[in-house]
Amino acid sequence: MTDTPAPQSPHYILEHTFGYTGFRGDQQAIIDTLVAGEDALVLMPTGGGKSLCYQIPALARSGCGIVISPLIALMQDQVEALRAAGVSAAFLNSSLDFRTAQEIEEQLLRGDLELLYLAPERLLQPRTLDLLMQAPISLFAIDEAHCVSQWGHDFRADYLQLSCLHQRFPDVPRVALTATADQRTRQEIAQRLDLGEARHFISSFDRPNIQYRIAPKNNPKHQLLQFLTTEQQGHAGVIYCLSRNKVESTALWLQQQGFNALPYHAGLSAEVRAEHQRRFLREEGVVMVATIAFGMGIDKPDVRFVAHLDLPKSIEAYYQETGRAGRDGEPATALLLYGLEDVVKLSQMAATSEGSDEHKRQERQRLDAMLGLCEITSCRRRALLRYFNEELGADCGNCDTCLEPPATWDASEASRKLMSCIYRTGQRFGAAHVIDVLRGGDTEKIRQFNHNQLSTYGIGTDFSSNEWRAVVRQLVVRGYLRVNTEAFNALQLTEQCRPVLRGEESLQLRTLPKAPAKSAKGGGESRSRTPVEIVDADLPLWDALRALRKTLAEERGVPPYVVFHDATLREMLTARPRNESEMLAISGIGDSKLARFGAPFLDLLRGFDGETA
Ligand code: ADP
Ligand code: ZN
Repeated sequence: MTDTPAPQSPHYILEHTFGYTGFRGDQQAIIDTLVAGEDALVLMPTGGGKSLCYQIPALARSGCGIVISPLIALMQDQVEALRAAGVSAAFLNSSLDFRTAQEIEEQLLRGDLELLYLAPERLLQPRTLDLLMQAPISLFAIDEAHCVSQWGHDFRADYLQLSCLHQRFPDVPRVALTATADQRTRQEIAQRLDLGEARHFISSFDRPNIQYRIAPKNNPKHQLLQFLTTEQQGHAGVIYCLSRNKVESTALWLQQQGFNALPYHAGLSAEVRAEHQRRFLREEGVVMVATIAFGMGIDKPDVRFVAHLDLPKSIEAYYQETGRAGRDGEPATALLLYGLEDVVKLSQMAATSEGSDEHKRQERQRLDAMLGLCEITSCRRRALLRYFNEELGADCGNCDTCLEPPATWDASEASRKLMSCIYRTGQRFGAAHVIDVLRGGDTEKIRQFNHNQLSTYGIGTDFSSNEWRAVVRQLVVRGYLRVNTEAFNALQLTEQCRPVLRGEESLQLRTLPKAPAKSAKGGGESRSRTPVEIVDADLPLWDALRALRKTLAEERGVPPYVVFHDATLREMLTARPRNESEMLAISGIGDSKLARFGAPFLDLLRGFDGETA
């Protein structure tokens, strides 16, 4: 590429408006398809760069690009970010007063708008559709297109009616975008949005910058605290819990530990939720403790970690939730802690959920796949991607099993003891009681059922209760045992146990990591990798750059990343630009951002140059 690209060509817009040097992955092909007036269906992981896929063609074509997005609360930030890049963008939703809405409508009719964000319910109002019929429209972008799927928890009835766009605006290209990877959702999108002719663009779903770690719950609070203090000090992140109560208590506890933590769940009022979401986006280093009600459409680029304190109910859900970390491509961590109680609780939920037997069976299968992922001893990323029908050529080197291959032990004899004990107690008791019997406990229940008379009473004193629970959990996950959710979560043997009991099959299980309290004394190595490594000498400048960004963001009432992303600031730190053209060479700085923010940053950098010289 020797020539400068023609003005208003996609490449020119990429460089001058967005400040980037090259397209990523399928971006160019998607943009070309839309610019040529054809439809597209785009599957790209979170952080893959979906926004540019419709923003650039909207700017390159004449007329206004209409972006349909389900979350009113987030439109403002998206529009602010575009305006900072010099794009004429707006949103129409119920939060605007009449006058403002009217002005935007007039701008649209005059052809002065380049991008307009709308919620589907607004778009579908006859009044809005009439308005759009009179205005020049460059394209329709249907974001979060998986909302058409009745299976997912993001289903929006309004999305189903978006197929009317095809009939109403036959000549306007449409693009549907989602980060949901599974085949069924993809087919539903194509069918329900009437995108039969659309070209499909399916990216790799790998997120190499996310480190996946899955650990058994040992002392979850301690494990979480250890993780936050040694690895995530001052970073923004999301902690997912299953219940509202647990969200509340965890947020409170983290606040007491000095973290800037906030709760988020559907039981809080709309105002509180909006306020917490706003603080998460605007402030730096907020830890959001949330149920799955939080997350869709939150395109905060610098979420450094996502932690799950409860097991997600499927790999799809896990992948979508962890995908909210590290959109900016910088290192991020996904930590999942899970235990036997999760396995039991989710089995119960799957069994008692509403819906047909077929639906329950599918939920159960999804849960089993999730549990399988937790217990594997090989590369997590390969297993994850394989679940989405993607084959990785080699182990990833950036998941817990790659970094620290799990130790296993021959658990054949222990498993036999456990199985016999379940059998002898009549397959009628839950894990806690069976373990008490194995460990020769003296409980009311044991006396009541005379279980101290059994041959298996007290044959398992060589393991702690925790170790036994790990054995139970792994045998359930591997299908040797099942939890009967219709009978007090009683443990029962399956056919698979026979060869083990007969001594024909040996069982290798994961070794339980030592309890954190013990290993702390042993002086175990603490992982203190800060994802964003800044050398000490650069810290004063780094802090000054961030402080300046914060001031500029506050003056404009926008989140700091709307001014510049972390990666852009970091490049400034290393490149130390001294004039405007050096500034423009930095990724994330286009013409408009240079005009707006260039001077104060150049001043700051010059000041530091003088000091260190
Ligand atoms: P998605 O919507 O797919 O989750 P975004 O559109 O928010 O992802 O993009 C993720 C991040 O990647 C954003 O910070 C965006 O500015 C950046 N990005 C996207 N495309 C490019 C590119 N071609 N070059 C550099 N950065 C890019
Ligand atoms: Zn790996």
